[in-house]
Amino acid sequence: MKIRVIGGGLAGPEAALTAARLGCDVDLYEMRAIVNGQPRLTPAHQTIEFGELLCSNSLKSESPNTTPWLLKEEMRRAGSALLRIADETAVPAGHALAVDRVEFSLRIAEAIAAEPRIRVIREEVTSLVQDGNGPEYITILATGPLTSPALSAEIQRITGSEHLAFYDSISPIVDAETIDMDRVYFAARWDKGTADYINCPMSREEYDRFFDALVEAEAAEAKEWEQLDYFEGCLPIEVLAKRGRDTLRFGPMKPVGLRDPRTGKTPWAVVQLRKENLRADSYNLVGFQNHLKWGEQARVLRLIPGLENAKFLRYGQIHRNTYICAPALLDKHLRLKADPSIHFAGQLSGVEGYTESIATGMLAGIYAANLAQGREPALAPRSSAIGSLVHYITEANPKEFQPANITFDLLVPLEEELRKRVRDKKERHRIQCERALVEFDSWLSSVALTNAPSISSR
Ligand SMILES: Cc1cc2nc3c(=O)[nH]c(=O)nc-3n(C[C@H](O)[C@H](O)[C@H](O)COP(=O)(O)OP(=O)(O)OC[C@H]3O[C@@H](n4cnc5c(N)ncnc54)[C@H](O)[C@@H]3O)c2cc1C
Repeated sequence: MKIRVIGGGLAGPEAALTAARLGCDVDLYEMRAIVNGQPRLTPAHQTIEFGELLCSNSLKSESPNTTPWLLKEEMRRAGSALLRIADETAVPAGHALAVDRVEFSLRIAEAIAAEPRIRVIREEVTSLVQDGNGPEYITILATGPLTSPALSAEIQRITGSEHLAFYDSISPIVDAETIDMDRVYFAARWDKGTADYINCPMSREEYDRFFDALVEAEAAEAKEWEQLDYFEGCLPIEVLAKRGRDTLRFGPMKPVGLRDPRTGKTPWAVVQLRKENLRADSYNLVGFQNHLKWGEQARVLRLIPGLENAKFLRYGQIHRNTYICAPALLDKHLRLKADPSIHFAGQLSGVEGYTESIATGMLAGIYAANLAQGREPALAPRSSAIGSLVHYITEANPKEFQPANITFDLLVPLEEELRKRVRDKKERHRIQCERALVEFDSWLSSVALTNAPSISSR
């Protein structure tokens, strides 16, 4: 059975090269092309080349026992074509793997041209329906954060409009250890459920000071093409604030039902912090997605009682990003539950970042090739970095689903007993990575991976 890969960015070429290496014929569609002497591009791509890196040239850390390293190590062991090319085109970048972006794209084009099983078609795909005239094929959709409008409409048609998002709206995350616990309190609104939220209470004066700083704070520059015409449901906090002094007190900073047990009174306004992970070592500021410059966020958010000395692990962001609600739509082989002939990979599938996109492209290529040849491939192990990414995108709460990079939060945590015994965080991470690689190697030997080196040559 033939494979049709749509998208010639990062995930698409990786999927195509992987499937071809495993013996499948692949049609690789890319809409960027020279048409009537003019380049036809997306709003952010500047070339028609495969594997164009849209912004930075870094594939992140190479420091052993970090999660970006672990993900890359797994990809090397599985024979990822794009990672090999990244290694070959690396430029000095300290502990990171950064590439010469022009050379990187060039070598991907060469690898594709050298693969007789891949046919490149420079065309925008707008339909996912198999016309029934030709032989059946498997589709790998890897059209990325800037999927063309016509194809986005087609994806909405087959998945339901509520399952395709066009923006990332991310709230800031704060390191739990840096919250002043004397100034905040745990409570659930109206005491319903367990008191999981940290509440930062504000007096009227504190609220006014915070409000004034917020509405005057400088916004991050939006790229012209981003056209951030926000949905009402995920308005940036500063946009909401500009509608009136009390809008936030009736919205994300609503104090009702959150009486401060220490005073018995309801504060003028409350900022709620929600656990980011089960270990509760980081919290996000509920409803505080924003589009402010990072320095401005630090300045304004530290006016919140309890966060005066907060360390922000991530700042709020809002940017254009097309992605599906993977937990509602995909099975663990990255296939659409409603139509298993359609596989998803890359940023569109709900992962975030260059390396994560390439990794899911590789996995989709392995799965699709095995299925095309009549084998049901074993799932990448949950304990591996790549298995953890898939676990996250398929098992997260669909109502709150946000794309994610690979982090230790997504990996299988160590057992309680071991966590207690091993106090050193670095040592815990080393153990997690070691376990991941052992299980990943054993999975590799169970799936068909023609020509893949079994062990990293680096
Ligand atoms: C502006 C911007 C900057 C980013 N910067 C970074 C960064 O610095 N670091 C990082 O790790 N991540 C970054 N990302 C996030 C992400 O990792 C990259 O977008 C990455 O390129 C995603 O890989 P992909 O293969 O999923 O999508 P892409 O690389 O975008 O590839 C998708 C391809 O599909 C094609 N396509 C779209 N629609 C169709 C269609 N209908 N028919 C045929 N082809 C189609 C597109 O032309 C494109 O070539 C950035 C994202 C954006 C939008």
